[in-house]
Amino acid sequence: DPSLAVSDPAVHELLLAEDRRQRDSIRLIASENYASKAVLEASASSLTNKYAEGYPGRRYYEGMDFVDPLERLAIDRAKQLFGAEHANVQPYSGSPANLAVLLALVPPGGTIMGLSLPAGGHLTHGWKVSATGIYYKSVQYGVRESDHRIDMDQVREMAREHQPKLIWVGHSAYPRELDFAAFAEVAAEVGAHLVADIAHISGLVAGGVHPSPVPHCAAVTTTTHKTLRGPRGGLILSRKEFAKKIDKAVFPGLQGGPHNHTTAAKAVAFNEALQPEFKTYAAQVVTNAKALGEALLSRGFELITGGTDNHLLLVDLTNRGISGRVAAQALNACGIELNGNSIPFDKRKPFDPSGIRIGLASLTSRGMGVEHMDAVAGFIDAGVREAAAHEGAVSDEFAQRSRASVAEFLAAFPAPGL
Ligand code: PLP
Repeated sequence: DPSLAVSDPAVHELLLAEDRRQRDSIRLIASENYASKAVLEASASSLTNKYAEGYPGRRYYEGMDFVDPLERLAIDRAKQLFGAEHANVQPYSGSPANLAVLLALVPPGGTIMGLSLPAGGHLTHGWKVSATGIYYKSVQYGVRESDHRIDMDQVREMAREHQPKLIWVGHSAYPRELDFAAFAEVAAEVGAHLVADIAHISGLVAGGVHPSPVPHCAAVTTTTHKTLRGPRGGLILSRKEFAKKIDKAVFPGLQGGPHNHTTAAKAVAFNEALQPEFKTYAAQVVTNAKALGEALLSRGFELITGGTDNHLLLVDLTNRGISGRVAAQALNACGIELNGNSIPFDKRKPFDPSGIRIGLASLTSRGMGVEHMDAVAGFIDAGVREAAAHEGAVSDEFAQRSRASVAEFLAAFPAPGL
């Protein structure tokens, strides 16, 4: 069998170029990371050839000698990692995991409640364009205008008024700790299922630097590829009493055959997250985020909520005279990868919002510490200044110089897996 380089040089070249890009840029997208070589290896295994509809011991196909023990291993490790009674490792990604939970716990048309997208919530928590906002009656809570924090009084009032069957707690762009116990109290009062979506923070929860939602929730969903540093995929944890319903909702409710190669890679990632070094990594992610926040504040940037408790920073660029999208594009040309992001009560449109979102998982995976955050803030500041001074554009010469400095700075930090 010829190698990819021989059989398909066009694809091979593009993959090599992407490796280089990931190696040579300061990656600050809050939902991304570097998976280990072991995780990548498992993802690229022959398990991609295998069908396995059903669950270990109850399959619709033959040849499960190694797939069953593998899925059991992934399940056991997930349960151990998060202290959960039940785990389903089959969701293809975070969005299908969330849809499966809704299918399991809420009748079609039932009322659900989640944090709104502009306040930092995810599409799948009932936003109007998502299937979760189309097939369910969705009401959305926000953050307080005064301090941009979740307002538990609003959550309680809305829950009393709308009597949701399910309440989501979780976010894609909220820089503060979530009070799962307070949400559980509200959910219990109105008889709703509480479901946490810890897609962004599951690495921090696994590493013990963010409180765990598991004791407070009917179910907990997560992606496996963000702070958790695994393959692209999803995971549902739940109480035993919901295990059957959730398994049935994932398959046959929503999905067909599980992606066994990804299941193998999830098992590898869960094992990595069970090691003591992972705790050190998770703590470092948060320390780095706080340090980068301080370094940005000292350069005149404004942070939503003034700082962070987790892996991410939300920066309001209004005072810098540039939009989030234009800044993100300019910084990308300079070798700094992050995304434009709406800020709470944003006066601009979501496609060209006022803010940028910054996450520290990737740089921490490369071995950076607080002592390197000032340099990172310097690169961001220089790019934003240059772009703001030239109507959003950076010259090719500036971009090239920045990219060369970035590559030089990154040379001391090998990128895992690449
Ligand atoms: N939930 C949250 C909180 C997320 O941030 C995301 C992804 O960004 C998802 C769910 C969806 O995950 P996926 O993109 O894997 O479908």
